[in-house]
Amino acid sequence: MTMGKDIQSLTSPRVVRELMARYGVSFKKGLGQNFLIDRNILAKIINAAELDGEDLILEIGAGIGTLTKELAKAAKQVVAIEIDDRLLPILHDVLSSYSNVNLIRGDILKLDIKQVTEEYFGDQPFKVVGNLPYYISTPVLMMFLESGLRYESMVVMVQKEVALRMTAAAGTKDYGMLSIAVQYYTCPEIIAIVSANVFIPPPKVDSAIVLLKRRPYPPVRVEDSQLFFQVVRAAFGHRRKTVLNALTALELEGVDKERLHAVLNRCSINSQMRGEDLTIQQYADIANELWFESKKVYR
Ligand code: SAM
Repeated sequence: MTMGKDIQSLTSPRVVRELMARYGVSFKKGLGQNFLIDRNILAKIINAAELDGEDLILEIGAGIGTLTKELAKAAKQVVAIEIDDRLLPILHDVLSSYSNVNLIRGDILKLDIKQVTEEYFGDQPFKVVGNLPYYISTPVLMMFLESGLRYESMVVMVQKEVALRMTAAAGTKDYGMLSIAVQYYTCPEIIAIVSANVFIPPPKVDSAIVLLKRRPYPPVRVEDSQLFFQVVRAAFGHRRKTVLNALTALELEGVDKERLHAVLNRCSINSQMRGEDLTIQQYADIANELWFESKKVYR
């Protein structure tokens, strides 16, 4: 893909430093401000998002607009959210020739994203793209996954460890609550592992670009998704406990340890197993048995 002359300059560390100095702005480490300065990585993000001229994009963390600009060139409309009001004058300047960009100053975790997307996109599906601020990448992902919003896909840059957790299989060390939530709602794919030197300033960790394609429906049948996630949370909240003890701690009404033991038996799950050994299907089996138990439905 061809990149304009302008973007080439925003990928120059010298130009970025000069731009920030001109506006009297320094990098805020606490806000995860590591800006991309690599054209190939920008192209990888844009390609992973599979954009056409009709796409509506919600960008998380616009920074100085390096990625925003590329999104604006490839999509129909970009709504970019940035928490740091010091960066807004730079963003307005950098993006001045793109009439299809709307900038919103705000905290992605505090804004009413449903209202924002409805205001700009109506009831149209949209794509989420972001080089995420790493200090909140997991809560941001969880927020979108659980939101019921009409996103088609998400392309996010996250810390490499988080990418490995998102894609981990049962029984591996990276497997946890995030793996199950991500894989329940989406099909995740690591597009590239990204070294720290493509950012200014470089973070202390490696990163990864991950594509999350929303599933039309979950990979397992679940009677009550709230109960399903309650079970998963309990099992991973007490990692050292056996699944039987972790679920006993849930104190589900009318389900004592003995009945839990019977539930696990009916699912052919050894009650001495630990949460990290159970597959999404096994969690679904447990949650469904508990659901039937609570409804007193006997089959
Ligand atoms: N998109 C730019 C790029 O790729 O160079 C900047 C990415 S930088 C890793 C993350 C950006 O998210 C920073 O500009 C930071 O100020 C912003 N940010 C941090 N916390 C945020 C929050 N809670 N809501 C919205 N933006 C946030």
